[in-house]
Parts: sequence; structure tokens; C-alpha cells
Amino acid sequence: MDFELAPEQKEIQALTRDFVRAEVEPHAATWDREHHFPRELFAKLAELGLMGVCVPEEYGGAGADFVSYVLVLEELSRGDAGVGVTVAVHTSAVTLPLLRFGTDEQRARFVPPLARGEHLGAFALTEAEAGSDAGALRTKAKPDGDGWRITGAKQWITNGRHAGTFLLFARTDPETPGAKGVSAFVLDADHVRVTRDEEKLGLNS
Ligand SMILES: Cc1cc2nc3c(=O)[nH]c(=O)nc-3n(C[C@H](O)[C@H](O)[C@H](O)COP(=O)(O)OP(=O)(O)OC[C@H]3O[C@@H](n4cnc5c(N)ncnc54)[C@H](O)[C@@H]3O)c2cc1C
Repeated sequence: MDFELAPEQKEIQALTRDFVRAEVEPHAATWDREHHFPRELFAKLAELGLMGVCVPEEYGGAGADFVSYVLVLEELSRGDAGVGVTVAVHTSAVTLPLLRFGTDEQRARFVPPLARGEHLGAFALTEAEAGSDAGALRTKAKPDGDGWRITGAKQWITNGRHAGTFLLFARTDPETPGAKGVSAFVLDADHVRVTRDEEKLGLNS
């Protein structure tokens, strides 16, 4: 088996490494110390196509393969692990699930702005009493007119304060316990209220 990276994978790796040396490494300690979320950095990553590396071009991505995306995460995380986590959650937990499981309409509406980095993605699953046991979540969604009314509280949602698109999980069938009674919703940020920032031991950017 050949484990050598392909030329285009090496190219993306080198592009990201150069970017991180110039734009991340000089600031990483300050961002961490000051708990600064470098919103402007993600616009620059988007210009390089790195907010949707492995998303097909027809959906606004760079059209590279998954290994290229992992190489990007490695390089970003080497400079600032918080930046790596932001891009990983944005891509792996929001953009790619929408691409894989969304309807045609959801894909067309939500994926291009995510892949182009115009919106950041957040994945809202965890609750105070539902971490490892995610199927125990209590946030409820009830049909309301043409849509749904969602009530509940999530916690530890990476990108929560900065995201434009949320993939949020809520119980739609109160009679069915566990994960089978839960559905995923795609929400614009103006339907979500962020109430606090978590104090963490690391990943502060
Ligand atoms: C930096 C950070 C970012 C995060 N970002 C997100 C995010 O973007 N979106 C989101 O939805 N969530 C996010 N989370 C939440 C994360 O998914 C949860 O922390 C995780 O699911 C674990 O849940 P918990 O912290 O409640 O721990 P618990 O579930 O309470 O687990 C505590 C400990 O008990 C162990 N344990 C649990 N159940 C069992 C069992 N049955 N048998 C044996 N051991 C068990 C666990 O392994 C762990 O060691 C984030 C968390 C962190 C720290």
C-alpha cells in the first residue's frame, strides 16, 4: 500500500502550513490568553477554499479529498488547536452531514454559504444531562403552524456565538425514548439565543 501523499495533497498541506506560519502562529498565544475568537482569520481561510476543502465545487467547496481536509486540520491545529476545532466542527459536524443527509433543498440552501465560509456551522447536540448519552436529550420540537417550535437548552456548543447555521437535535417523538425519538433540525442563527460563554482550560481562541 502506498502511503505517500499525492501531489495535490502535498500542495494543500504546504499552502496551509505557510498560511498558519504567517497568520496563526504569531497570534496564537495572544488569542488564547485574551480568549479572542479570530473571526477575520476564517474569512482568510475561506479565500483559500479551506472552509470547505472536501466539499464538491458545485456546492461551493474546493473539491479536494478527505485526506486533504485532514491535512488542513493537522496544520491548523499545530498553530492553534482552537482554530482546528472550529474548522473541524464547521466541516465534519455540520457541512458534511448536511451534504450527506440533507434534502436537495437543504443542500442547495445551506451548504454553499458554509463551504464558502460565509457562515460558520455549529452542531448543537449536548445538554446538561445528555453528553455521552446523547439519546437522553430533552430539547423538544413540536409542530407549530408551517414549522416547528423548539424549546430547550444546549451546552458546550463549539462556534455557538459565531455560527450562522446550526444543526440542532431535538425530541420530536416524546413516546419513543432514546435516539429514535430525536430529529435533526437546520436553523439559521437568528432562531437561537446564546446565553453564556463556557470557561475552558484550553482551546480559548
Ligand atoms: C471543548 C469541547 C467542545 C465541545 N463541542 C461540542 C459541540 O460542538 N456540540 C455538542 O453537541 N457538544 C460539544 N461538546 C460536548 C461533548 O460532546 C460532551 O462533553 C461529551 O459528549 C461528553 O459528555 P459529558 O461531558 O456530559 O460527559 P459525561 O457523559 O457525563 O461523561 C463523563 C465521564 O463518564 C464516562 N461515561 C459516560 N457514560 C458512561 C458509561 N455508560 N459507561 C462508562 N463510562 C461512561 C465518560 O467516558 C466520561 O469519562 C464539547 C465538549 C468540549 C469539552
